Parts: sequence; structure tokens; C-alpha cells
Amino acid sequence: MSDSCKSCPTAGSCTPQDKQACGEKSEMEKDLERVLSRIKHKIVVLSGKGGVGKSTVSANIAMSLAKAGKRVGLLDVDVHGPSIPRLLSLKGQTPRADNDNIEPVPYALNLWVMSTGFLLPSDSDAVIWRGPVKIGVIRQFIQNVNWGDLDFLVVDCPPGTGDEPLTVMQLLGPDAKAVVVTTPHMLAVDDVRRSITFVGLVGAQVLGIVENMSGFVCPDCGKQHEIFNSGAGEKLALETGSPFLGRIPFDPELARAGDEGFNYLKVYPDSGTAAAVEKIIQPILALDA
Ligand code: ADP
Repeated sequence: MSDSCKSCPTAGSCTPQDKQACGEKSEMEKDLERVLSRIKHKIVVLSGKGGVGKSTVSANIAMSLAKAGKRVGLLDVDVHGPSIPRLLSLKGQTPRADNDNIEPVPYALNLWVMSTGFLLPSDSDAVIWRGPVKIGVIRQFIQNVNWGDLDFLVVDCPPGTGDEPLTVMQLLGPDAKAVVVTTPHMLAVDDVRRSITFVGLVGAQVLGIVENMSGFVCPDCGKQHEIFNSGAGEKLALETGSPFLGRIPFDPELARAGDEGFNYLKVYPDSGTAAAVEKIIQPILALDA
């Protein structure tokens, strides 16, 4: 009972809608608050365009944070094209669920994963969900998953600024921080500009921009070649006043790791690509210092 109930003549007989009209939080809102209060930092990975490596970057940020000893959750809300189960070799896993609680799928000692991909019986199954259903599922993935105490929740969103990123941002609240992934060419960058505007509009903060597939290190000669015009991500960071987190080169072994589902950072801990990922997570780790 809230203070305003004391002087209310209909106290005790009001409906949940009446309570909300009086500013009282619904059970659902209280559940969400309880879950979020146990997650110290919420990192939302966005991109303006598909195929820029957003899921690869999300997975490697999560694995790198876990490698640094942090307790990490990785949530894939790319409802129509979930790639995290493939990237982490978790395809075919079914999360345990009882009543309203879902257990995230453990990947490593301190990394747990939840993805819409776990709900689809096969690769060829397509999700045909309208906005409200998608919003409900994303809410369940945050509120009803037993994430426990996490240092970081990394959320992989589908490209663009549609229902999924909007829902995630609204549910996580203004302390969610966005990492925006682009490739170095200008076409991708135009879309990223939109993503940055979107983050501002929902009242959140851009933690930084990652330029993926930035240069190609030739496995034969070891020389770095620029495949696209380089530096567009960095220019955009300057233009929008966003921090630039760093570049990840186009690395054929990183692509193979994604296809075959092995942990690139574990197999190639001393590579330039691993060093690039480690550099990128430093400002993220600093949030938890
Ligand atoms: P998105 O989530 O933006 O659609 P993905 O992470 O699924 O993109 O990546 C698209 C493809 O590009 C995948 O085959 C992935 O393995 C590959 N890829 C992503 N980043 C790199 C990189 N830095 N070097 C090589 N291949 C990459």
C-alpha cells in the first residue's frame, strides 16, 4: 500500500490499472527492476547495417570480458537472424525453463547465453512475429531469465533502429550504453550516424564506435591492405563526439571461427586481432573498475 492509498476512499478495492494510474509499479515492472538491479553494466551492440560483423563483435566482446574474469551474460535479440548460437557452437541447445524462469545456456564458467535461436527447432524455421510479440519475447529474455549477478550484460541487436533495439533500450533504461559497429566504408557509416542519433533519442549514451573489417592482414605476406577506404569510423566518432574504441582487421581466421563456432580468442590469444579486441574492451572494463 502506498502513502496515497491511506487517504483514498476506494483503497483495497482498486484494480491493477487503478494502482498504475496512482503511480504504483506493476508486478512486471518490479520483476524487471529486480533483475536489472543485479546487472552492473548493460552494453548494447548496435549497427546501422547488417553484415558489418555486429554479432561477431558482440560475441568477442563478451568472451573477452569473461576472459578478464567478469561475470557476463550475452543476449541475442536478433529475432529474425540469430547468429550467436552458431558463432559459439551452441546450436541445438534448449534452455531449461520452469514456470516463469528460464536458465541461460552456460558457455564458459562465467559466460551465459540466451538467444531467440534456441527457440527455433531448425535453421530453416523462420520467425513471423509482429511487434508486440517480439517486444514480449525480448522482455521475457531480460526479465524471466535467471541471469543472476552479472558484471556485464552484452546485448546483440539486429541492425537498424526498429522494434528490437528500441525495446532493449527502453527496458534496460538510460544507464544502458551502446557500442556501435561499422565497417570503414562510407555507406555503412551513413547508417551508423542514424544509430548514434537513435541512441541519443532514447536518452542513452554511446560508449563508442568499433570499426570492424578495418584493413586485411595478408596471411601470406603479413602486410596490411585496406579493402575499403579506412578511417570512416574514426571520422564519424570525431564528427559525432563519440569515443572511438578501435579497429578490428578483416581476419579470415575470425570468419572461420564464426563458421565453425570456435573461440577465436582462445585459439589465437597472441594475434593482432585478439590484441585489437582486448584494446576495445578496456573502456568497457573501466566501467567496472
Ligand atoms: P552482423 O551481425 O553485422 O550481421 P556477423 O557478425 O554475422 O555480422 O558477420 C558477418 C560475416 O562476416 C560472418 O561470416 C563473420 O564471420 C564475418 N566477419 C565479421 N567480422 C569479421 C572480421 N573482422 N574478419 C573476418 N570476418 C569477419
